[in-house]
Amino acid sequence: MRITALAGGIGGARFLRGLRAAVSPSDEITVIGNTGDDIHLYGLKVCPDLDTVMYTLGDGIHEEQGWGRRDETWSIKEEMKAYGVGPEWFGLGDRDFATHLVRTQMIDAGYPLSAVTEALCIRWKPGVRLLPMSDDRVETHVRITDADGPRVVHFQEYWVRLHAAVDAEAIIPVGADAARPAPGVLEAIGGADLVLLPPSNPVVSIGSILAVPGIREAVAGASAPVVGLSPIVGGAPVRGMADKVLAAIGVETSAAAVAEHYGSRASGGLLDGWLVDTSDAAAVAAVEAAGIACRAVPLLMTDLDATAEMARAALELAAEVAK
Ligand code: GDP
Ligand code: CA
Repeated sequence: MRITALAGGIGGARFLRGLRAAVSPSDEITVIGNTGDDIHLYGLKVCPDLDTVMYTLGDGIHEEQGWGRRDETWSIKEEMKAYGVGPEWFGLGDRDFATHLVRTQMIDAGYPLSAVTEALCIRWKPGVRLLPMSDDRVETHVRITDADGPRVVHFQEYWVRLHAAVDAEAIIPVGADAARPAPGVLEAIGGADLVLLPPSNPVVSIGSILAVPGIREAVAGASAPVVGLSPIVGGAPVRGMADKVLAAIGVETSAAAVAEHYGSRASGGLLDGWLVDTSDAAAVAAVEAAGIACRAVPLLMTDLDATAEMARAALELAAEVAK
């Protein structure tokens, strides 16, 4: 079985760990990672979502934090601060720095991001094939209005420095319209037996991936069933500030509204099936009325077993809708 999943950072990575535990070792998992969160700092290319997937599946993640390396130290950051060089609000630890140095060195030598990611994964052995959504530079920006007036900030500045405390007025994946899917991305979607949308942020993770021309069309036209899992439980994101970016695109923060935003494949959208949390069982009827098969199952990734159970529920729903 060939499974292709689109993924952001923490939500995507944790789900993928459960998926890997739920399938047999002979099944092939391809992950199309979001690179809209990428940022250039100190001359280095940083890919937070790709790294979260790589570190999580490669057993190097800081488990409680959900991003960055376990047993991290912060000497470089302290030295930069001593020079008065920021940004102070973005956490790059010493171990993590090495990843960005290797990546940037390879990119400067002419390798595309997809080849660099493959090389980094030789060390981390994530047990999946990890592809960036594109080799081309895409960086999500957010339009806000604050004391400095109306302006556009990098997504990381909005999320990490401003903690999404001001309203997002628009989400702009800068560069996406001219970006091409990375090698293997369209093939992985077209050739899959199952396409999954993990409980990643629908706007700035999955939405950024879908903004690369050709990817949305490939998912909508895939011969395999497409099943998603809601990142919204009980009307709120389980973690993070997805409500802020959903509001920016006019989508209510509810499991049903996110499903309807993705849309039914029967009417040109992306989903055949959608899982909501048991606490959102009342949403099932509305999702089904929108032409998407829907089940309510526990969707909290409290531990590996619970997450593997979510993956199994997605596989079961896929088998049902494939009939
Ligand atoms: P990010 O790039 O690190 O923000 O990670 P993702 O975009 O992959 O995932 C973020 C989303 O994961 C958030 O919208 C959360 O609501 C969702 N999420 C986190 N933990 C859980 C969980 O245990 N269950 C579900 N259903 N969603 C979760
Ligand atoms: Ca992210």
